[in-house]
Amino acid sequence: MQSRICLECKASYKPTATKNNLYWCSWTCYNKGRKGEARIGYRYSHGYKYIFLPQHPDSNKSGYIAEHRLVGAVKVKRRLLKHEVVHHINGIRDDNRIENVVVCTRQEHNLYDEAIIAGKKKRTELSKVPVIQKSIDGEIIKVWGSRTEASKHFGCSIACIGSAVKKKHKAQGFIWENA
Ligand SMILES: [Zn+2]
Ligand SMILES: [Zn+2]
Repeated sequence: MQSRICLECKASYKPTATKNNLYWCSWTCYNKGRKGEARIGYRYSHGYKYIFLPQHPDSNKSGYIAEHRLVGAVKVKRRLLKHEVVHHINGIRDDNRIENVVVCTRQEHNLYDEAIIAGKKKRTELSKVPVIQKSIDGEIIKVWGSRTEASKHFGCSIACIGSAVKKKHKAQGFIWENA
């Protein structure tokens, strides 16, 4: 996982897969952060950001409302209906930039999420396909077992090799093709 900045002490740290350290670097910071929630005006839950706005008609019993719903309402220029869902286009739950949210029905939302899952699956599958590394003159240098293997060797991202295959441009000074 990528490094994140602790919401409380602002230190940079690497989150692990364990719960509750997605936003705070330590239990000390987590506890401080949680206690100060109303003071700082927001909290995180299940990856979503909630704003402390007790005066809002759609806030919950604790006075919080999901930030993506606030942004969604701004986008469609009206109060959201209960059954409407706000989807994050890039799949990142706390990326609440107005261009990243779309207000939709539940049915539409299922389609959006299926598309995200299908996209991820396709990328994972492609990362396992063997890839040919060629010199600029088109000479085969090596056939790698997968894009992952090649990218590890060159210290670049899998997407860098993938994009070279797809768009037929060079990556790491070589030509890349699917085997
Ligand atoms: Zn901290
Ligand atoms: Zn969604």
